[in-house]
Amino acid sequence: MSIFENVARIREQIASAAKRAGRHAEDVSLLAVSKTFPADAIQEGYSAGIRLFGESKVQEFAGKVLLLDLRDAEWHMIGHLQTNKAAKAAELFTAVDSVDSARLAERLNSAAQQLGKKLSILIEINVGAESAKSGVAPSAPELESILQAAPGLDHLEIRGLMTVPPYRENPQDARPYFRQLRELRDRISARHLPSVGMDVLSMGMSRDFEVAIEEGSTCVRIGTAIFGDRAG
Ligand SMILES: *Cc1c(COP(=O)(O)O)cnc(C)c1O
Repeated sequence: MSIFENVARIREQIASAAKRAGRHAEDVSLLAVSKTFPADAIQEGYSAGIRLFGESKVQEFAGKVLLLDLRDAEWHMIGHLQTNKAAKAAELFTAVDSVDSARLAERLNSAAQQLGKKLSILIEINVGAESAKSGVAPSAPELESILQAAPGLDHLEIRGLMTVPPYRENPQDARPYFRQLRELRDRISARHLPSVGMDVLSMGMSRDFEVAIEEGSTCVRIGTAIFGDRAG
């Protein structure tokens, strides 16, 4: 299957999942995860109508972006970001969807300020509180620190939450984790905290995006089902 056909099929699957949940397909955006794939695959995704791309390594993307000239594309950093790479990430990306500490948020904010830009961010939540995964555990004090720091982060726009749930053989078993993220979002949202937007729920990957949409995802991050298997 070509990238073009894959994108068309996924758009249909997004639409049916949204319909099943009584939601609108337009309320779910498709972010194509192009990590490990070359610039020409990204170009092909763009030709198929993709405008949101996700990358997980600053260095890798820095090399690829030089080969691309896609003016209205948005680039999302979705991988773990070390604070010492925050400045470079702020320069290259439109959004950082994997913010997991107040310190990182502060670094991104200063870098964005120096660049005279505004950076969208999501707070990554480690819903399964897995030790090997990045993200803030739902009950960790760090989540509160990020939320409280928000009014001072003029060059960041906090837009919501992101998660990668624990791996489950059956995608249906990821459902409670997606629900947990939505409920956490609703609780934060109900507090009407200054400078904290909570419209985005980024959840759902190739295997489980339909379940995630049924649970309220507004952004699915799809790699394999669009670009094919990643080497290694
Ligand atoms: C790689 C990755 C994806 C895409 O995973 P697929 O299973 O290939 O769709 C989504 N989100 C994050 C954070 C990733 O690192």
